[in-house]
Amino acid sequence: MGRPICIPCNREYACHKNEVVVLIRDALYFGDEWRCPGCDHALVMGIAPQPFTYSDLPQFDETLRRYENQIRARVGKVEA
Ligand SMILES: [Zn+2]
Repeated sequence: MGRPICIPCNREYACHKNEVVVLIRDALYFGDEWRCPGCDHALVMGIAPQPFTYSDLPQFDETLRRYENQIRARVGKVEA
């Protein structure tokens, strides 16, 4: 898998941080945050195939609160 390329900058992204937390619909995943060294645009790729917690688990709300400040991106919403 090649590195993403930033079109405006014509530069390759660089891995900024491993194991960042992303919320995708009703589950939390680890992924890697990459940044463009030119414009500092950020993206998350390399998302784990399985979530480390999801809403059907009884402790999900507690886990979500624990990771709340670390969530780097949110896709969709957690239904109340
Ligand atoms: Zn860029």
